[in-house]
Amino acid sequence: MSLINPVTQYPSDPKKQKQPAPGLAEDLAPAADHGEGSYVGSAKLVGRRALVTGADSGIGRAVAIAFAREGADVALNYLPVEQSDADDVVAAVSESGRKIVQLPADLTDEATARKVVTDAVEQLGGLDLLVLVAGKQQAVEDLADITSEQFDQTYKTNVYAMFWMIQEALPHLPAGSAIINTSSVQAYSPSPHLVDYASTKGAINTFSKALAQQLAPKGIRVNVVAPGPVWTPLQVTGGQPTEALDSFGEDTPLGRMGQPAEMAAAYVYLASPESSYVVGETLNLNGGMPTP
Ligand code: NAD
Ligand code: MG
Repeated sequence: MSLINPVTQYPSDPKKQKQPAPGLAEDLAPAADHGEGSYVGSAKLVGRRALVTGADSGIGRAVAIAFAREGADVALNYLPVEQSDADDVVAAVSESGRKIVQLPADLTDEATARKVVTDAVEQLGGLDLLVLVAGKQQAVEDLADITSEQFDQTYKTNVYAMFWMIQEALPHLPAGSAIINTSSVQAYSPSPHLVDYASTKGAINTFSKALAQQLAPKGIRVNVVAPGPVWTPLQVTGGQPTEALDSFGEDTPLGRMGQPAEMAAAYVYLASPESSYVVGETLNLNGGMPTP
């Protein structure tokens, strides 16, 4: 097998573009790699039952593809306007033979977020993997211009939905289950234009470290993945200032943006018993940016 140089493994040619949020993977140019053509499972999650949020596009799509190919049945949550992306995910894993359930819903509403969990439990016949990837990120240069509505929606999507969904899931999660939250390098190295978003990611890290200790004695492991700059709809729908997009990821030690496909294995690892002694950890997948 020939060695792969991570510097040149993926082209780094982000382009300035703008879509209205939440955006679609199918309109991203260049297209992102979610592992559709490359991820090969090796039976690491056979028989597992997973709910993945943000599963239509970006990192969540890569996770959903990997989980299904590892043998898990997967419930996909996403916003109703993202239905066409979610259908592409179902098509990408159709050969896995696993049960794939679509649960479109807006997680900023408490009752709706809780119902996504109970629907997943019902339709999958149980639940042992809760993987929260959904997120909202809108860049605003000046604090004075962050509206209360944006602040509220960002915290509802990134923090409150996590709390509601984990609380709702816990009575259903047997020992051996895993909860995986999605933070960001922004939790440690916040950008000046992402005050609200970056602070939600700090909250997710700390929430997860506290909860991990509470749930470990019950045999439920809580861990976190913290990506760096990854090419997804989030970034071209206001997550970054549009003028910054053509250098997206260049300031990492690897000198390029990441692809969703490069995130999936970390989630598989944290979901599987291979990580049985890993609790309250944050795995940083960020191209080499230093973290605490
Ligand atoms: P993405 O746009 O592909 O995924 C975000 C998803 O969040 C959307 O597809 C949507 O389904 C979901 N979502 C947003 N608001 C929602 C709501 N109200 N209800 C239900 N679902 C909602 O982008 P992504 O980059 O793959 O983002 C996934 C996660 O990764 C986010 O938590 C993000 O903060 C995190 N992250 C991304 C990067 C990056 O550079 N792309 C870096 C660090 C962390
Ligand atoms: Mg999406």
